[in-house]
Amino acid sequence: MNNPFNPMPDREFSEILIGCLLAAAVGFLIGHVALSLAVVLAWFLFRNLRELERLRVWLKDTRQDVPESEGTWDVVLKGIYQLRREEWRARDNLLGIIERARTSISALEEAVTLIDSHGNLEWWNPAAQELLGLRVRDRGQPVINLIRAPSFIRYFNQGAYEEGLRLPSQRHPGRHLQFEITRFGTNDRLMIVYDITRLHNLEQMRKDFVANVSHELRTPLTVLSGYLETLIDQGDALEPRWQRALGQMEQQATRMNNLVNDLLLLSRLESQPDDREPQVVDVGRMLRQIHQDAEAMEQPKGHVLTLEAEPGLCLLGMEADLRSAFSNLVTNAVKYTPAQGLIHIRWWSDSQGAYLRVSDNGIGIDPVHIPRLTERFYRADAARSSATGGTGLGLAIVKHVLMQHKATLDIRSDLGKGSRFTCCFAPTLIRHEPAVLE
Ligand code: ADP
Repeated sequence: MNNPFNPMPDREFSEILIGCLLAAAVGFLIGHVALSLAVVLAWFLFRNLRELERLRVWLKDTRQDVPESEGTWDVVLKGIYQLRREEWRARDNLLGIIERARTSISALEEAVTLIDSHGNLEWWNPAAQELLGLRVRDRGQPVINLIRAPSFIRYFNQGAYEEGLRLPSQRHPGRHLQFEITRFGTNDRLMIVYDITRLHNLEQMRKDFVANVSHELRTPLTVLSGYLETLIDQGDALEPRWQRALGQMEQQATRMNNLVNDLLLLSRLESQPDDREPQVVDVGRMLRQIHQDAEAMEQPKGHVLTLEAEPGLCLLGMEADLRSAFSNLVTNAVKYTPAQGLIHIRWWSDSQGAYLRVSDNGIGIDPVHIPRLTERFYRADAARSSATGGTGLGLAIVKHVLMQHKATLDIRSDLGKGSRFTCCFAPTLIRHEPAVLE
């Protein structure tokens, strides 16, 4: 096959050479060599200019047939035409891929929306129309004007999209949605919204079941504990073997009571809506109370409990939940540190965030258990936690509260040497208030 890019200047060259020789011969005969050479060269120049003009006209619309030409010009024109055809083919291919991608995204049950770097809606699929109620006139509108739930606005503006956001649907009461945002390009965002109603309902059933069972257990437990207390009060009148049995029954009843309370606390934490407004929490003051309570509780063990809190450092969050989490960490340190042990509570901040650390020089935890410690009912050592009356839910509560505050828990421990639990909060939650003297 001929290669159209293979230049063939030989023919043009021969034509010019022969033309010049003939012109020189004719010029010699008529006595005007220079003139006849000039005429021939002008003719060649004119021919090339004419071809150039045809090329210019054709380049305006290269979809037209290639103009008929000769020699090198024909090679140039066909070469350009072939390049353009390859470009069209590649473009058609690309358009086909884009169209297929659009069609498949349109067929998805999940709502898919493209949001530009200014936070305005660019494109969405039919499911987004149905799930979020987007209409043609919403194109170019800020997405936070269309989805107005305060927690969505916070989530969208904060820009920390590692975790999704669950919200009840504004458009379809009773349905629940999960929003997931991913960045791409120059701060453009792809938002996918899932309908998680089924999953939400199943979770709700489980939570309700646990909450109901715990609640129902409370009354019989109170009655049992009451009678046990009365019987123990009359201890001297009872045989020693009954005294021992009653003592154990009371211990187990207290344990069950703690379990029911922790289960109720966990289900309360789980059933709280995501869009609660956080308050400014004076963590220093809260820790001073927890510290005092722990000191009062553990007087007999003779622990040395110290507290160091950065003055005026507050946290944007849920006060009651944070109190449960921090007291659980302190209670654990007290429980798992033998008599005369050291327990240190520290609250401070740096440019990366704010930190609450509870360290002790107690019995410690084998590192193999650390990744699973925050699971419900996971115990590093069943014997030791039943000895301390633990429920196995304390760290699950801590984890849950921290998750709600988008915070993390760092656990370091050495078996036999002690443990260090650190809650790490993002700098965006830090607030500084003038320190109050108490
Ligand atoms: P529990 O009610 O059993 O204490 P938690 O969820 O609070 O349950 O803790 C889970 C397990 O982690 C405990 O059983 C215990 O083995 C271990 N643990 C927690 N805190 C400490 C600590 N400060 N020192 C040693 N072990 C700890």
